[in-house]
Amino acid sequence: MLRDDYGNQENLSPLRSMEHSFRAYVKRRRAEEGRRMSGNGLPDYAFAADYEYRKKLDAIPHFYSVAKKICATYASRTLQEVNLAGLLVGPDQYPEVYQMGCDCARILGIGIPNIYIVNDQTLNAYTIGTDDIEPLIVIHSGLYERVTPGELRCVIGHECGHIHNQHGVYNMLKQLMVAAGTSAAGLVSAQLMRLMTKGAEFLLNAWSRAAEVTCDRAGMICCERVEDAYSVNAKLLYGAAIGDRSSVNLEALKKQLEMQKETLVRLEELMMDHPASVRRIMAEMEFAECEIFYRWRPELREAGQTARSREETDERCRRYVDVVRGRK
Ligand SMILES: [Zn+2]
Repeated sequence: MLRDDYGNQENLSPLRSMEHSFRAYVKRRRAEEGRRMSGNGLPDYAFAADYEYRKKLDAIPHFYSVAKKICATYASRTLQEVNLAGLLVGPDQYPEVYQMGCDCARILGIGIPNIYIVNDQTLNAYTIGTDDIEPLIVIHSGLYERVTPGELRCVIGHECGHIHNQHGVYNMLKQLMVAAGTSAAGLVSAQLMRLMTKGAEFLLNAWSRAAEVTCDRAGMICCERVEDAYSVNAKLLYGAAIGDRSSVNLEALKKQLEMQKETLVRLEELMMDHPASVRRIMAEMEFAECEIFYRWRPELREAGQTARSREETDERCRRYVDVVRGRK
């Protein structure tokens, strides 16, 4: 395990002295089952479509076991590459980022993840991990440079959401598909694409878009201000030049979404693994009015403020993120 290489960090922080190996995390998770979990074994904030699409993927014969094998091979190599080329945050380097990871992990009730910053100018962050491999979070320098501390906390909370919701194997599978053509992942991806039917690929993308909604909710649960969750997604739209002092208007974004309602271009989203950022923001705004959100964030509920049920919230979110059904 990578963490063994850094075993001497255990005494540097009270949080580091906590037992946070992946095995301990699984044990603790089992002990916490029932607390803030819904009947399907996922956290109560998880978007219903996340579970539904996952069940459909699970139902494809041998799909999960083959995916797990492919991902295990790729994940262990990627972990080593990230450790070779990236910077591991900790109490002594980038302690503020390390602390955000500790905070988000504590809020969601997961083990403290290793977080790396890597030299890459694309606005991206992702999580690597499978059922058997301790997860780690990778943040691209391009994203790190362009977000505020509050927005970065949302990003880290989002990535912790992937861990909390056990997205590991399918999440890695999706990353491999996206990585097709890059040198490191090219061979594995090419083999993978030959194995995947078009139907399975569509399904994996549909699941991935739903899983992103789940994790945006995790980001909102971990953030300090929900506006940061909206603005960081907005930055994915326009790239967020460094030093940019302008701001995004949510009403204007809504109108923009309306403009593409009946166009064919929207169907391109069927092959996308993330919902369009505008849709993500709309789904976040729905969750901000959900009773589950206030269960996690009671301090944000104003006196007398009503909230929608999870079922109604999920239904409203589907209108934004379900590419085909939502446009009827
Ligand atoms: Zn994500």
